[in-house]
Amino acid sequence: MIHEILPVGMLQCNCSILGDETSREAIVVDPGADIQRIQEVLKRHSLTVKQIVITHAHIDHIAGAAKLKALTGAPVLYNPKDLPLVKMMDLQAAWLGIPTPDVQAPDDTLEEGRVIGVTGLSGQILHTPGHTEGSVCLHIPDQNLLIAGDTLFAGSVGRVDLPGGDGPTLIRSIHTKLMTLPEETVVVPGHGPNTTIGEEKENNPFLQ
Ligand SMILES: [Zn+2]
Repeated sequence: MIHEILPVGMLQCNCSILGDETSREAIVVDPGADIQRIQEVLKRHSLTVKQIVITHAHIDHIAGAAKLKALTGAPVLYNPKDLPLVKMMDLQAAWLGIPTPDVQAPDDTLEEGRVIGVTGLSGQILHTPGHTEGSVCLHIPDQNLLIAGDTLFAGSVGRVDLPGGDGPTLIRSIHTKLMTLPEETVVVPGHGPNTTIGEEKENNPFLQ
C-alpha cells in the first residue's frame, strides 16, 4: 500500500493519502487544505481518488473536501452526526480568521462497522464519538493501521471543549473501540506524530 501523510493548512491537519499499488486507486482522508499539494502527491504516484473520507467536520479536516471532489469526482464520506458542525462552518472559519469554505452534506455516510475501500484496499469504520458526535476512525487491519482523526494523539486525546464534544464519551470510545485493537497497530492521529495502540495503552496519561 502507498501511504503518504501530508500535514495541511495552518493547523497542520494530517491528511492521509492511501493508495493501492496495483489498481492505482486511492482514498484521501481529511483534505483540510493545500489541495494542490495533495494533487501533486496523487500525480507522483499515478493515483486516482475514489473516495474522500472525513474523520469529523472540523474545518481543518473538511475544508478542502468540496474542492478535491470538484477536481476528482470522488464522493465525500462522513458521519451525518457532524452536520450541526457543518451548519456552523462560518463560526468555525471565524475562530481561525479564514474565509468560510464551501462544505456540503456527505455523499455517503460513515457509520460504525461500515466497510469502505477501493480496489485492493479496504478498511472498517469505527464510530468514536467524544471529540465530536460524528467522529470516526478508519481501521485497516491488513496494514495494522488506524487513521484516528482527533480522537487519539501520541500522549494525548482530542479536546472536548468545542460544540459536540464530551469527555466521558471520548474516553469510553477510546477504551472500547481503539484500545481493543492489536497493540502493534500504528496510529496516525489528526495532528502530530504517529504512535501505536500499545504505546498509548502503556503511557497515555489520559487513559490510565
Ligand atoms: Zn477536530
